[in-house]
Amino acid sequence: MSTKFPPWAARLVAALILLTAVPAQADLFQYCQDLLLPPRNAFTDGRVEAAFARIQEYWRTEFIERGWPYEPARLVLHSGVVDSACGALRNLGPIYCGLDTTVYIDLAYFTSEWIEMFGPPDLALLNYVLAHELGHHVQFNRRPHLFSGNHYTRSEMIALVPRVEMQADCLAGVYLHYAVKNGDVRKSVAQKAPDLAYGFGDDVMDLRSLGRGVQPKKTEWEHGSGVQRSTWLSLGLTSGDLTGCEP
Ligand SMILES: [Zn+2]
Repeated sequence: MSTKFPPWAARLVAALILLTAVPAQADLFQYCQDLLLPPRNAFTDGRVEAAFARIQEYWRTEFIERGWPYEPARLVLHSGVVDSACGALRNLGPIYCGLDTTVYIDLAYFTSEWIEMFGPPDLALLNYVLAHELGHHVQFNRRPHLFSGNHYTRSEMIALVPRVEMQADCLAGVYLHYAVKNGDVRKSVAQKAPDLAYGFGDDVMDLRSLGRGVQPKKTEWEHGSGVQRSTWLSLGLTSGDLTGCEP
């Protein structure tokens, strides 16, 4: 007869073992709680709206201080298909549409398939995803033609998109740098962002698909490798300087 530990006991043991490797910091309690409790879905209406408002307020203030005009972005939460100025959005992860300056978050998207591929939709993911999408809105405010759809040729856009994505990651890092200092986001949450950005790299996503027996979709629209994305995010997170975000 074999004896099996219940899941909570395994988590407790893992927590005790890992405790030796964790520095005594203010958010140690939260760290232990994260290990002991099953991950919660942070993508609820209230949490998404609150994080969106905080990030947008940061950028609005930053723009005002620099004497730059800032047009606010909108947030649309939906489940399943939704119409946008960029067409009908279905089965897509979080997305920023520059034609209607709106961030669309499909709350039904974080299914078990998503969790299997990308991990839990926790607070770290919530903050990274919204900071990245609003990074695109910062780009829109500075260079609206990036999102006009007819300013560049197709081949110019194909070359430009990875740089736009890496810059949005860097801008997400800049916001997280501020949010940690300001106490809006825990340091342990912000520190997960480079790994999350890595996980959305083209090469990493391809490998993950292959690992699940799915042939990766070949596309010319690359978003940057895992290393590139995490490097640019880390740059913004460490420096807190948006002027350094120019891939
Ligand atoms: Zn993006």
